[in-house]
Amino acid sequence: MVPKEKILKILDEYDKDKLTVATLCSHSSLQIFNGAKKEGFRTLGLTVKDNFRYYDAFPKAKPDEFMKLDSYSDLLDNVDELLARNVIVIPHGSFVEYMGTDKFEKMPVPTFGNRNVLRWESNRDRMRMWLESAGVVMPPIIEDPKEIDRPVLVKYNGAKGGRGFFIAKDYNEFKLGLDPEQSYTIQEYVLGTRYYLHYFYSPIRKDGFKVHDGSLELMSMDRRDESNIDELYKLGASEELKRLGLFPTFVVTGNVPVVIRESLLPKVFDMGEQVVNRAYELFGGMIGPFCLEGIVTDKLEFKVFEISSRIVAGSNPFISGSPYSDLTEENMSTGRRISREIKVAAQAGQMDKVIS
Ligand code: ATP
Repeated sequence: MVPKEKILKILDEYDKDKLTVATLCSHSSLQIFNGAKKEGFRTLGLTVKDNFRYYDAFPKAKPDEFMKLDSYSDLLDNVDELLARNVIVIPHGSFVEYMGTDKFEKMPVPTFGNRNVLRWESNRDRMRMWLESAGVVMPPIIEDPKEIDRPVLVKYNGAKGGRGFFIAKDYNEFKLGLDPEQSYTIQEYVLGTRYYLHYFYSPIRKDGFKVHDGSLELMSMDRRDESNIDELYKLGASEELKRLGLFPTFVVTGNVPVVIRESLLPKVFDMGEQVVNRAYELFGGMIGPFCLEGIVTDKLEFKVFEISSRIVAGSNPFISGSPYSDLTEENMSTGRRISREIKVAAQAGQMDKVIS
């Protein structure tokens, strides 16, 4: 991990009036660039593909400048160019995934949020320890496949976006679906409705829903469109489909905005608060956007199967605000909220609280 002192020294030398917000051209970059522009920052799009022409269609989200790289690790060879532009990097899911956790941790460029969270988030066991010890309920793990006595989801370790996951209802189905080459975790399949809750934790803001030394905001919520499970039912009974070699898959293809019944909001805030407080105890806190991904059962219980500790693509429908963020400030996307936090921190001389 790049030492925090090194990052703070770099920040000290930055021209605070000429900060540039940079991110990888994918995932939630339109929202991040649009938000940075609204807050008055210069913007830089990092890309390894020739995938930037589509920004011409979105002038309000087109970065001021692009930096074309040969590979993601090439970013580490271009550090001087980034520092010369007073760059603050905004991580998003694809950025960290494509670059790799190791390289991302070592990148000697000021980055929004606490990079210590990566080690806790990228390992399923450690993530479970964090969330459960915070008091968040997760779907139980079934250690021995022979003990599968209810629907379960078999998750391959390291598989991203639900690729290759499969549902089994007993040991036979487990054996039928398993790829023996991969390591896996067996989790109870929770029946209910999915909610992906987008929070923002500010260590600087002192009003609102106070948590730890700062404030917790609920930005928005989405539900993921997942192919092919979302449409598979149209083809009839799943047992018959399996015989034809058609298995449900969970590949994310898009996001749909949702709101949750209002009586569940206290629980939503409780969970967010617990996770933030525990993050402080375990690794010095989690700053900025994060997402709890869970399922609400018909008993109105939440079971959380994952946390993403940065901006999620599910916040993309809310570029002009959401039914929740509108109640704090209108026209506030998560992307814009990140830039607002950087701006406020820079003005208050508190960049050390939000950058690592
Ligand atoms: P990503 O890192 O992209 O979020 P992932 O590979 O870590 O994905 P998960 O988010 O854990 O995978 O799960 C993928 C999808 O599988 C979820 O969006 C949800 O639809 C479904 N899912 C995950 N866990 C459960 C569960 N315990 N019960 C029911 N459905 C689940």
